[in-house]
Amino acid sequence: MKENREKIQELLREKDIRVTRQREAILEVIFESEKPVTATYIFSRLQDGCPNLKLSTVYRNMNLFVGKGILRKLSLGIENNESYFELIRDEHHHHLICIHCNSVLPLDCPLGEFEEKIKEETAYILIDHSVKIFGICPHCQKYSKA
Ligand SMILES: [Zn+2]
Ligand SMILES: [Zn+2]
Repeated sequence: MKENREKIQELLREKDIRVTRQREAILEVIFESEKPVTATYIFSRLQDGCPNLKLSTVYRNMNLFVGKGILRKLSLGIENNESYFELIRDEHHHHLICIHCNSVLPLDCPLGEFEEKIKEETAYILIDHSVKIFGICPHCQKYSKA
């Protein structure tokens, strides 16, 4: 996706990392993935398009990105499992979405205590959650009444 390309180049420059095709390609896979990914996954996605790419190169770049604060290495606590990496996005927040005009408001996360309770009750390691709230904004309420 072209939009991601631009974001990635900007990000690499911002972090003082030399922009290379391989780095762009690696980050592109990560940007497009909704879920945390492994180096092997990235390698398998890129193998055809970049025949010179080595798995060790992917690993090296992933660690570089972690060091530069672009990626986070997840500690899942699963033995014998490959490390998962995810993009460090903007501060965690949620969205309130108007079903009429599609306007989006960011919301602070209210789930901290709830997560603590779930962790205690289930012994899960929680990785992420997503919440979207849909409604009708004040503007659209006024408009639809008129
Ligand atoms: Zn609206
Ligand atoms: Zn949240």
